Amino acid sequence: MMNDFTMTIAGKPVESSDVITVLNPATGRPIATAPDCSTEQLEQAVTSARAAFPAWRATSDADRGQILKAAAGVLTANADELMRLLTSEQGKPHDEARFEIMGAAYWLSSLAGMEIPVEVNEDSADRRSETRHVPIGVVAGISPWNFPVLLSFWKIAPALRAGNTMILKPSPFTPLTMLRIGELLRGVIPDGVLNIITGGDALGPKVTAHPGINKVSFTGSTATGKRVMASAAADLKRVTLELGGNDAAIIMPDVDVEAVAKDLFWAAFRNSAQICIATKRMYVHETIYDQLAAALKDYAQSVKMGDGSEQGIQLGPVQNKLQFDRVVEIIDDCKHNGFRFLTGGNVSHDAPGYFIPVTIVDNPPEGSRVVQEEAFGPILPLIKFSELEDVISRANASEYGLAGSVWSSDTEAALAIAARLETGTVWINEVQHLSPFQAFAGHKQSGLGVENGLGGLLEYTMAQTITVKPAKAG
Ligand code: NAD
Repeated sequence: MMNDFTMTIAGKPVESSDVITVLNPATGRPIATAPDCSTEQLEQAVTSARAAFPAWRATSDADRGQILKAAAGVLTANADELMRLLTSEQGKPHDEARFEIMGAAYWLSSLAGMEIPVEVNEDSADRRSETRHVPIGVVAGISPWNFPVLLSFWKIAPALRAGNTMILKPSPFTPLTMLRIGELLRGVIPDGVLNIITGGDALGPKVTAHPGINKVSFTGSTATGKRVMASAAADLKRVTLELGGNDAAIIMPDVDVEAVAKDLFWAAFRNSAQICIATKRMYVHETIYDQLAAALKDYAQSVKMGDGSEQGIQLGPVQNKLQFDRVVEIIDDCKHNGFRFLTGGNVSHDAPGYFIPVTIVDNPPEGSRVVQEEAFGPILPLIKFSELEDVISRANASEYGLAGSVWSSDTEAALAIAARLETGTVWINEVQHLSPFQAFAGHKQSGLGVENGLGGLLEYTMAQTITVKPAKAG
């Protein structure tokens, strides 16, 4: 057991008398403990972030950019160690863990160079009016367990770039890699600018209720997002919420089935389907349904699932027992209703670790749980459609509106469908293309506000308009 992870508060290591235990989801066994931040330690983190704010906001854009680039360098230089640690607590294969660490470094270096514009509203003999975007103060970042590092840096990079200081709280299921990153960044990022705290379920609500925090940027489930927003309302904290999804893919009859089957498989199952923007409902035109079902089944059988630290593994376990139980419940609901599995459906409860085989459900009815709910695990409903109008309305009949995709060889037709989908992102002939330069927003109950792109950066600022009228001559 590793038990030497420390929080980073005011640039210093901080231990805690209480700890939380972290398991390896591939074995179900404890691997480490992490500090369980006390109320006093949360106070220290807020005090340190507040104390660091005046100097950090006064630091020039160029200097802040240099510091973000240096932080990116630290992640890159330590990618091997961080990759192993991330796999051990999250379960994802080494290659995917490395991709996540390098993605975080890329976000830091990209944000380092991003300009925050000054808008000139009027420039006349009478007056000059301009709107600047000033930092908010102390931002709390709260991140989930599916991409513990990347989704934390989606918050850290823009928050720091814009001149805010920060308290970052990763999920209690996956605290270790962010704690280690906090240790590595001491002395690189000025003391107090980035504080990293960890703890159990009680910590998040204390963070969102704290009056010394000015904004909460949250990624997680819709249910928790609503609690975060209610808590933030008390003192009108700014919020950005990136929440759940139930993304539909619409597969048109003119696709080359054999050519796209592999991409469609990974659209649904990458990271063992624990991606907010995984394809969670796959609507396939009836004329190609059987051919695609067979191709997906064939491909699924070639994919290796196992402990992500082993060579050649492509899919790891589900990250935690709660999630495992939730996916099993949906599989059981399918069995209970007599749905047919194209592949998978058999979960071993005796084997170590939280492994659920890739499970594809053959054309379940629209109202079934597997279609309507976000399973957030390796189960996919493959659903037949015949009429375009019908499939568009089914895709849109969801309280979620995160993302979706259209697959077709006719780009114009695909664009026309995309325009009618009620989601923050629509991909055509791909999924999950994300970029620090491209807005990512959840419509409906998938979120509030935007991450990434200039809009995402500006969410870490407040507009301040300054007008200047020439002084009257006496
Ligand atoms: P979760 O909502 O259970 O937890 C997310 C984070 O919130 C954790 O750090 C947790 O400790 C903290 N938390 C829990 N209760 C809190 C409270 N009352 N106040 C403040 N913080 C609290 O989500 P999860 O299970 O970790 O992640 C899975 C969910 O996240 C899925 O629904 C998925 O779709 C969603 N997600 C969304 C995005 C996106 O960008 N839209 C990305 C990844 C995951």
